[in-house]
Amino acid sequence: MLSDRIQTLSPSLTIAISSLARDLKAEGKDILSFSAGEPDFGTPQKIKDEAIKAINEGFTQYTAVPGIPEVLQAVANKLKRENNLDYAPSDIIVSNGAKQSLFNLFQATLNAGDEVIIPAPYWVTYPELVKYSEGTPVFIETDEKGGFKITAEQLNAAITPKTKMIILTTPSNPTGSVYSKAELESLAEVLKGTEIIVASDEMYEKLVYGIDFVATASISEDMFQRTVTINGLSKSVAMTGWRFGYLATPNKALISAMNKLQSQSTSNINSITQKAAIVALDGEVDTDIEEMRQAFDARAIEAVKLFNEIDGLSVLKPDGAFYLFVNTKEISNDSIAFCKELLQETGVAVVPGIGFGAEGYFRFSFATDIETIREGISRIKKFVENKRQ
Ligand code: PMP
Repeated sequence: MLSDRIQTLSPSLTIAISSLARDLKAEGKDILSFSAGEPDFGTPQKIKDEAIKAINEGFTQYTAVPGIPEVLQAVANKLKRENNLDYAPSDIIVSNGAKQSLFNLFQATLNAGDEVIIPAPYWVTYPELVKYSEGTPVFIETDEKGGFKITAEQLNAAITPKTKMIILTTPSNPTGSVYSKAELESLAEVLKGTEIIVASDEMYEKLVYGIDFVATASISEDMFQRTVTINGLSKSVAMTGWRFGYLATPNKALISAMNKLQSQSTSNINSITQKAAIVALDGEVDTDIEEMRQAFDARAIEAVKLFNEIDGLSVLKPDGAFYLFVNTKEISNDSIAFCKELLQETGVAVVPGIGFGAEGYFRFSFATDIETIREGISRIKKFVENKRQ
């Protein structure tokens, strides 16, 4: 009964672990979850007020498929003001989260057998959506030595005549790595003269710690032309449930193709979300964002210190996002077994590294309060000590 296509798709491992943890919690077990990919903060009040206003004013009907003119202008203004990128409102499509932006992009560009370079560890969704769109994921392995970032040499070696696209995630989920301007420039040099599209997922842009974020498309005119900038409000403004993602590209044919797809699939995103999003895009809640960023930074510092005190585990301080990618190789190279055992024995839920394409790691989300983080790491410490005996 099921299509061949749907059978290429694996369920999201992050969601699987979160729901197992929820089930155990419902059974009365004391569960501490560090598996969620969303901030523990609420959406800033100003945004909520704007949404309520939109409802009361009756802004409840279909809108233009890519978004209302005001929201497209607000995205364009944001990209100019914060990233020095010159996109027109017509270069932008607003979708139901960046997940749909990526889906639209892959569906509109990939043919069977087209290769998509994905640096590993990667966000779980990329290879699944690429495969669903008949593309072939080609992974470039990275590790702690290179700060979980690919080099120009690695990129050069991975390119074949079939390479259609590369996905860059900066800051990265799950490793927290952030590409510097110089690093992006060296990758740009390799791409020059090719037709390769760069999908730059900048979802965690606002969550960087002691380092400057650089938008991939801002590196050069050549990079601007080939890059599709993907971003949204889920993580940086604590708006995961509102479903606001967007992408921008100066390629008119590509925009038109994706608009066509969205018009025949989901149409416009929620009209109320669009109104509320303008408040965030215009910088009206920047103070709230900065407060959240500082809280994440303080948690990252403490969590990294506590993890690195555990014999057998090690972790790099993330430059961005809200995850630690913890190396367990001294103890276990089977991340699913490790995470299941950890959850069952200690009630601590973390996500197996294999889901992100890296065995011998787990992802620990620090999007939870500091007391819970301390308690969770202390339980992990005892678990690891027992295993080492
Ligand atoms: N990109 C990355 C790197 C992510 O981690 C996520 C969410 N986990 C997304 C995109 C998608 O976010 P959303 O669909 O909520 O906009």
